Amino acid sequence: MKEGKNPKKPWLYYYGVVLLVIVLLNVFVFPSLLHPRVTEVSYDQFLQLINDGKVKTAALDEYGTSIVFTVTDANGREAYGETGVWPDMQYLTQLLLEKGVIFGAEIPTQTSPLLSTLLSFILPMVFFVLIGQILSRSMQKRMGGNALTLGKNNAKIYIESQTGKTFKDVAGQDEAKEALSEIVDFLHNPSRYAQIGAKLPKGALLVGPPGTGKTLLAKAVAGEAKVPFFSISGSEFVEMFVGMGAAKVRDLFKQAGEKAPCIVFIDEIDTIGKKRDNALPGGNDEREQTLNQLLAEMDGFDGNKGVVILAATNRPEILDPALLRPGRFDRRIPVELPDLAGRLAILQVHAQNVKTDEQIDLAAVARMTSGASGAELANIVNESALRAVRLGRDRVSQADLMESVENVIAGMQRKNAVISDQEKKLIAYHEIGHAMVAAAHKHSAPVTKITIIPRTSGALGYTMQVEEDERVLLTREDAMATLATLTGGRAAEETVFGTVTSGASNDIEKITRLARAMVTRYGMSDRFDMVALETVQNQYLGGDTSLSCSSETARLIDEEVRALVRQAHEEALRILREKEEKLHELAAYLLQKETITGDEFMQILNA
Ligand code: ADP
Ligand code: MG
Ligand code: ZN
Repeated sequence: MKEGKNPKKPWLYYYGVVLLVIVLLNVFVFPSLLHPRVTEVSYDQFLQLINDGKVKTAALDEYGTSIVFTVTDANGREAYGETGVWPDMQYLTQLLLEKGVIFGAEIPTQTSPLLSTLLSFILPMVFFVLIGQILSRSMQKRMGGNALTLGKNNAKIYIESQTGKTFKDVAGQDEAKEALSEIVDFLHNPSRYAQIGAKLPKGALLVGPPGTGKTLLAKAVAGEAKVPFFSISGSEFVEMFVGMGAAKVRDLFKQAGEKAPCIVFIDEIDTIGKKRDNALPGGNDEREQTLNQLLAEMDGFDGNKGVVILAATNRPEILDPALLRPGRFDRRIPVELPDLAGRLAILQVHAQNVKTDEQIDLAAVARMTSGASGAELANIVNESALRAVRLGRDRVSQADLMESVENVIAGMQRKNAVISDQEKKLIAYHEIGHAMVAAAHKHSAPVTKITIIPRTSGALGYTMQVEEDERVLLTREDAMATLATLTGGRAAEETVFGTVTSGASNDIEKITRLARAMVTRYGMSDRFDMVALETVQNQYLGGDTSLSCSSETARLIDEEVRALVRQAHEEALRILREKEEKLHELAAYLLQKETITGDEFMQILNA
């Protein structure tokens, strides 16, 4: 389909138009302006014209190759002519003298020097400047406004004169709020601090996993202090041209200085604040310059003026140490994943924005969502509201909340997934296997729900366990119970069907990760005692680990991990074999109901 009128014509279009105009001017306008019209005649015609007494003046041109002359034409006007030079100059001179032609005189072939420079020099310049303007403007548009204006500020600095957020909007995170409230107080009355001679930290660094409310906290500080909030993301400093990021930093601080007291918030500071190293020779000039500029600006400004810099990152371990030294980001404020009470508080804050049934139990939701971030909890509340609308209700019910928790944990239900009866049966045994091994351990969290309705995450069913209360420590017994529970699914398949399936792949991953951590990081194996064999690299993003031991030790670690898993697996097999009739009974029940509660499960198990 053809598009309608193109509102922004491409720069090539302008370029073409200007080029065409120049060519046309050159061909038609300039020659006639600069040079009077000259008629070329043959030498004999020239002689004839002299003889007729029509030639008034004649002159050799500067190269001596042609003669330029003037005649009076039929209308009595002066006209110019040109002809080649004939070798016999003597005769010509004679003839010219005879006819009274003024010769050797200057012929006015040039227009006035002023007009000529204007036309031939200044006019093209004007065109080029115009082209340049058009080009740079269209380029700027396409490149987000930064192409040819080096050193000029174009950073997307977002200024909010009022963020509208306060500490009330941030649930939990009491330690972080406490640390930041000092900054709020300082922004309120800096003089009190100046009087006693105290210098407030220039900057505070908020560190924590994604979605824990770092950005929210920074905004709340500005909102509490009622000062403007400058925010920019670290990635916006990283530019194509060396030096531009630094210029942006300079500009940011200049603007902030003018608006003081205010908060400057640099999000994702790790993108510019990475350790400077020589790993890439010459490859990181731009980033380094930007960082250097930031360091210089932080040193340069007067801390008592009331500009406070907040920055956020989820990769504090890669930050350049220079950023963290006193006088810069000397306050480091951890913003951790919320605990049970924190999750409940966050749910309550967000539940205020939606209409809910009277009897919703947010505490139950909080218990189920161990490990969830504030952003995820906010999402759960919103998803439940969407579900309520979808089902034509005008209030969020507990069922909505529970369902969205499961969506977040395990993905959406795949109601129309086609799974054969034989496979469904196997899945039911697998899940009951997990649940029964869990129930056999007093160290295991109680089973609250078992389902064999598949989810979009790929889970074919799952067993949900929810801790009664949150625990911060993992005992060796807890860890072993978890390992056994995770092997329970596969153990049930083996016990009943005498075969194994790929359905346990996710369990296997979890088992391996936990068993490895027990050996390499938690010091839970006799063989290695309390030796750290692995170090965590980015604690807030997935927690990748790197091995810090010899390859010989690595082999022993693998052995140790295998021994732990085997031990757990054997225990699970033993538990299930002892209660095989219960296994059959529960699996049949689950197969028929598809989803059962923890209570139903315990009743049958203990019957
Ligand atoms: P971060 O910057 O740490 O990645 P954000 O501050 O952008 O996280 O948080 C994203 C959203 O999650 C917030 O807008 C808010 O709705 C919600 N949220 C996160 N933490 C909290 C909290 N402690 N209290 C209330 N809401 C929170
Ligand atoms: Mg953020
Ligand atoms: Zn499983």
